[in-house]
Amino acid sequence: SQIMSRGLPKQKPIEGVKQVIVVASGKGGVGKSTTAVNLALALAANDSSKAVGLLDVDVYGPSIPKMMNLKGNPELSQSNLMRPLLNYGIACMSMGFLVEETAPLVWRGLMVMSAIEKLLRQVDWGQLDYLVVDMPPGTGDVQLSVSQNIPISGAVIVSTPQDIALMDAHKGAEMFRKVHVPVLGLVQNMSVFQCPKCKHKTHIFGADGARRLARTLDLDILGDIPLHLNIREASDTGQPIVFSQPESDERCKLT
Ligand code: ADP
Repeated sequence: SQIMSRGLPKQKPIEGVKQVIVVASGKGGVGKSTTAVNLALALAANDSSKAVGLLDVDVYGPSIPKMMNLKGNPELSQSNLMRPLLNYGIACMSMGFLVEETAPLVWRGLMVMSAIEKLLRQVDWGQLDYLVVDMPPGTGDVQLSVSQNIPISGAVIVSTPQDIALMDAHKGAEMFRKVHVPVLGLVQNMSVFQCPKCKHKTHIFGADGARRLARTLDLDILGDIPLHLNIREASDTGQPIVFSQPESDERCKLT
């Protein structure tokens, strides 16, 4: 906490990047990466003049390669920076491009930090209006060091309506406040499942927990996303829902 209050180390912008938006969650598996991917695609779809990038700093469980249907090693630029891989018009960088898909990362903290440093500083993004950063879940060293190393325009926090997820989302929001990163709001994911046969709606993880948390923390709800087969399939086939079904009711309704 001393380090936090001293505000060290100094923040330095990522070269060529105007706005950084981080997507975070307290717990894993709540839809953080799904939100990050679809947010990037939605920002690009919303205004075709905007250049959008996606940086996956979830080094232990990188999902971006699969979700964006990308594979392979980044080329190096003349100044020895890694060139992002491109799909759906989004420039992407992920630890998943640098290590074998099935290789376990048995890394000590320092190695994780040097990998993060590489992902933050050694990528040739060109000019980007928005860089969406898929954070690892939780409030550990990586989240802190990303928040302290680069200027962040805002954080989007993803949670299911389940108490245990909300508790951790609450901690995440507090962490960003401590390091002076504006929290843009909460995305409530998997709030309702509608049976495709009988149309009955079930609130598998609860109905509006994230809405309650948003009220407690005085934050906006940016979107409310149902649990839907199409979203899962879209992720798994690397054709994100915003891209594959832009008019679907099930797509991320981020405002
Ligand atoms: P996190 O990044 O929080 O670990 P992911 O975005 O990887 O979570 O999502 C976890 C799994 O749940 C993925 O397989 C994803 O496709 C699926 N998923 C996420 N949100 C939804 C949703 N609203 N409906 C259906 N499946 C979802």
